[in-house]
Amino acid sequence: MPGATEVAERAPASRLVKAGIAVPVGPASLAQLTSKNSVIDKLQHVQSALRESQDRLNSIIQSAMDAILTIDEDQRIVMFNDAAEKMFGCTAADAMGQSMERFVPARYHATHREQISQFGAAGATKRTMAGRQAMYARRTSGEEFPIEASISQVETSGEKLFTVIVRDITERRRAEEVREWLAAVVESSDDAIISKTLSGTITAWNSGAEKLFGYPSAEVLGKSIEMLLPPDRAGEETEILARIGRGERVQHFETVRVRKDGRRIDVSATISPIQDSNGIIMGASKIARDISERKRAECALRSLSDCNESLMRATDESTLLQRICDLVVNVGGYRMAWVGYAVHDEKKTVRAAAFAGHEVGYLDTLHMTWADEERGRGPTGTTIRSGKARVCYDIATDPSFAPWREEALRRGYRSSMVLPLKSGSEVLGAISIYATEVRAFDAAEQHLLEELSNNLSYGITALRARQDRRQAEEKLARKADELGRSNADLEQFAYVASHDLQEPLRMVAAYTQLLAERYRGRLDDNADKFIGYASEGALRMQVLIQDLLAFSRTGRRETSNVSVDCNSVLREVLQTMASSIQESRAVITHQELPVIWADRTQIAQVFQNLIGNAIKFRREVPPVISIRAEKADQHWMFSVSDNGIGISAEHAGNIFVVFHRLHTRSEYPGNGIGLAICKKIIERGGGKIWVESQAGSGSIFRFTVPLQSPDAPEGATK
Ligand code: ADP
Repeated sequence: MPGATEVAERAPASRLVKAGIAVPVGPASLAQLTSKNSVIDKLQHVQSALRESQDRLNSIIQSAMDAILTIDEDQRIVMFNDAAEKMFGCTAADAMGQSMERFVPARYHATHREQISQFGAAGATKRTMAGRQAMYARRTSGEEFPIEASISQVETSGEKLFTVIVRDITERRRAEEVREWLAAVVESSDDAIISKTLSGTITAWNSGAEKLFGYPSAEVLGKSIEMLLPPDRAGEETEILARIGRGERVQHFETVRVRKDGRRIDVSATISPIQDSNGIIMGASKIARDISERKRAECALRSLSDCNESLMRATDESTLLQRICDLVVNVGGYRMAWVGYAVHDEKKTVRAAAFAGHEVGYLDTLHMTWADEERGRGPTGTTIRSGKARVCYDIATDPSFAPWREEALRRGYRSSMVLPLKSGSEVLGAISIYATEVRAFDAAEQHLLEELSNNLSYGITALRARQDRRQAEEKLARKADELGRSNADLEQFAYVASHDLQEPLRMVAAYTQLLAERYRGRLDDNADKFIGYASEGALRMQVLIQDLLAFSRTGRRETSNVSVDCNSVLREVLQTMASSIQESRAVITHQELPVIWADRTQIAQVFQNLIGNAIKFRREVPPVISIRAEKADQHWMFSVSDNGIGISAEHAGNIFVVFHRLHTRSEYPGNGIGLAICKKIIERGGGKIWVESQAGSGSIFRFTVPLQSPDAPEGATK
């Protein structure tokens, strides 16, 4: 390809002149000016200056980025620069003398010609700009490309020439298109898209931002982004912009902003740095989305799943179910909710136990079952069988919803979620929830509703357990009542029997005694023996009957509680027992004992029975007995310990039963009634009695007496 100077040299001088690039300085005109030397010098100077300027101009033209070509009135090319060669894919030599229309797509030919002729008609003199025209040019290869062209007219020696400057704007147009496209995307976005400088001045504001914040762009451009901040979040933007300035990106930042109307909105924003072509951060772009609705739903659902209060307050199951259904509809904003229980009948029916919301007879149309058949393979039946939650994203298309689709859609249900209600591993039923939108249950919502159904399951289980316990308690109370009555009957019988038997027994005893006295030695030996047995038996019977009577009386007698000093009671008991203590050489010690609120005689009897046993059931060594009392939370605990024969663990519980003895009378005398009386006395006083012992190693009998009996006056205990 020829260089700039080459073209200039090759092109005839007249052409350059015509093109307005060279000034006509021929030898004839020079000769006229050589009359004076000084004039010649000046002219030579001018001439060289002109040449210089012409060279400069040539090199500018040739090195220009734009294609520059000159055409005559018939559109023939008279000059074609380097850039033109490149742009049109044609050498200057080929282009010279050709019509410029060669480089213009046919559809522009007419316009083109018109423009050139208008130029001529306008009689414009020099270099008149024809304005910038956006149009298309054509390369030699036939490829069209967008150009921007300007045209100017040069009139030289009566001939009209036009200089056309053409710029290939393919790249620019492409960039513009991308930019326009992006601008359209930004403008049509529902999200607010804002740009701001690093100091927080708003520089761009799309229609999404207008909608979200309520300000038209004219009211915010050039203002500070701080205008959107609620007072409690002042400084938040400064912090974000500082991070942006460090090149960080702030993603899914959830915060609160204030709209033009003063309403607070929850937004989620992603803020990214904007860099210039040198990578220097100039500002930030922010994409913000209104999440108020999501937040509200989240909040509502959280309060739903947090329905412990309802669970706590519910006293019966149907109220609980109703309350939860109401909450789901009223707080959760769902269209309808119902609870179905799995009935274990032949048809495996699902019985509706509660519902709330827009039901309008829907449940009657269900004929729901949890059996593995068509009406049992919908969400509810499947959930009950599998124990797993089911989501139906679109009732209109979900095949499992077919049997109920029409009725459901008629009531405005579009998607549903069914959750199992379980007690342990048993599925009791399910709660079904319907929403008006397709795909209303997103992952977070499903999670919260699962929590809700778990809580409800727990509530139902707890209520049922509470009811079972109440029933068991009632049954127990009934049994205790019956037992008490039969005990009372028995006691009554024992009392009456022992009381009434006394008289005939006394007679038997008296007459056998008489028989023995009068006829001993008069009959044969056997008769004497038999009479002896009879009177012995009658005496023993008398003792037994008296003991039994004493036992019965213990239960019947009204207790008269008073303040009792156990030290003095013990002293009296020990005095009564002095002879047996002496005889057995028993050593009895005791600590300081408390004053208690009790029946004095009965407490004395307890001490006497326990100490008596401790002496009676001694080993070969003299008995060592100690009596103490210690204060516990609500009672005094007394203990009577001995070093006697002890009791094996298996018998420890039985010895308090009336007439229960571990030894024969010949080993240890007694009727087995002493401990039964102790038990009765202690338990009537609200305490307990038990023994800690091992065979052969002594026993500790312990009993408790309440610190203060319910009807005791203040200060009765110390
Ligand atoms: P009894 O003393 O008339 O046999 P109790 O009711 O007082 O009747 O006692 C029941 C049984 O408990 C006694 O027969 C005896 O076997 C056992 N027992 C009671 N006290 C003691 C004791 N301190 N050591 C060993 N065994 C005892």
